[in-house]
Amino acid sequence: MQGETKYTLPELPYKADALEPFISLEQLTLHHDKHHMAYINGANSNLTALEDGRKQGADVNMKAILKDLSWNFGGHYLHSQFWTNLAPAGSGGGGEPKGEIANRINSEFGSFERFKKEFSQAAATVEGSGWAALTVCPLTKRLQIMQIEKHNTNLFPACPILLVLDLFEHAYYLDYKNDRGAFIAAFWNIVNWDEVNRRFQ
Ligand code: MN
Repeated sequence: MQGETKYTLPELPYKADALEPFISLEQLTLHHDKHHMAYINGANSNLTALEDGRKQGADVNMKAILKDLSWNFGGHYLHSQFWTNLAPAGSGGGGEPKGEIANRINSEFGSFERFKKEFSQAAATVEGSGWAALTVCPLTKRLQIMQIEKHNTNLFPACPILLVLDLFEHAYYLDYKNDRGAFIAAFWNIVNWDEVNRRFQ
């Protein structure tokens, strides 16, 4: 994503069937190729609207464009983080965190089990569509769970995303129908803890 003047769809870092049985080939393909792509197209068209206004010296609906851009950019960025903090179960995905992130989870939350419980509760109770995320506060260096509504509400400015889980129904409806809890439980089998630890460092 860095250095580009328009947003582009990143490739998945694994095959589209690699997260089965926790996320099916069809679910992952639709989610990545259609839903993620829609945010990219949206953000690029928001940028074009701003650029066109500048070229023509014309007024644009600044409030509407910026609101839409925040939604589309948030969608693009969070999906990009989501794909890379997943890995196939048993080959990089699942299990317990290792390294420095494991120590910090234990010192902040008391145990990995307690962290899992708090993160799962944050995920289960997102109102409507949104995300659960683990972040680190740049001021205190403490770990913090974020519950993001939509793609762009309740964010803590400047807190980098270490781990994120998509709770939009489009993330799980084919595999789990309306059972968000089953999707959250499945998620723990495909968390890429090496990537989370890398982001933390
Ligand atoms: Mn999504």
